[in-house]
Amino acid sequence: MKQHLFVANWKMNKSFAQAIDFCMTHHDALQQLGSKPHTQLVLCPSFPVLFSLSELLQDTMVHVGAQQCSPHKPGAYTGQVSAQSLRDVGCTYCIIGHSEQRAQGITHHDVAQQAARLFEQEIMPIICIGEHKEEYIQQRTFQILAEQLEPIMSLLAHKQFVIAYEPVWAIGTGLVPENAYLQSIVTWLEKQLQSSGPRTAYRILYGGSVDEKNVGKMRSLDGIDGFLIGSTSLDFQKLKKIVSLGT
Ligand code: PEP
Repeated sequence: MKQHLFVANWKMNKSFAQAIDFCMTHHDALQQLGSKPHTQLVLCPSFPVLFSLSELLQDTMVHVGAQQCSPHKPGAYTGQVSAQSLRDVGCTYCIIGHSEQRAQGITHHDVAQQAARLFEQEIMPIICIGEHKEEYIQQRTFQILAEQLEPIMSLLAHKQFVIAYEPVWAIGTGLVPENAYLQSIVTWLEKQLQSSGPRTAYRILYGGSVDEKNVGKMRSLDGIDGFLIGSTSLDFQKLKKIVSLGT
């Protein structure tokens, strides 16, 4: 049976106190969720919470991830956080290229550099790609995904990584793609990534308005290895339902 990866992207929603409270209140349940066979759970809080959360969860198999990292090696970069620091505070995953980051000016080249920094620290990158609504309507999805992937492709050879397909029009909108459309994306991605190594070296996630009601349908897709979950992951009971479905 294949493993499913569930990544909770809390964005800037939970304060330090709220994130700690979430993990303390649900510690035992998180421990159970984290040790479910064929399941891996990653919580991605904001930077100041990472260290405390990895300490709190160290007796569980739940992973802690960051929501971005600097594309640079340590140096004079005011306000940035290095991949090395992320590793020091216990991060094993890091989301990069999220559309909310790209909207703030992070380029495809920056995302490739972020991946390079993460690989150096043996942190698993979760590389987000996805098209905007107009691009989807104009049927330019594959062109856009290819442009986003282009600078990063040469770094992926013989590496383990995660690709999260997140159509921007599905994020926070309540809309999710049809399974047939998602399948066409997965098939295209598998073809693009063929040269990077075996299919087992990378995982393909879907993200965008995933909730406890729609996840079952998408889980049945062969090429989908898990989900990147935004707003629904803020509610423990809903997150638990999503992770528990079908396992
Ligand atoms: C996201 O922004 O990564 C995301 C998946 O958000 P939501 O689930 O809220 O659409």
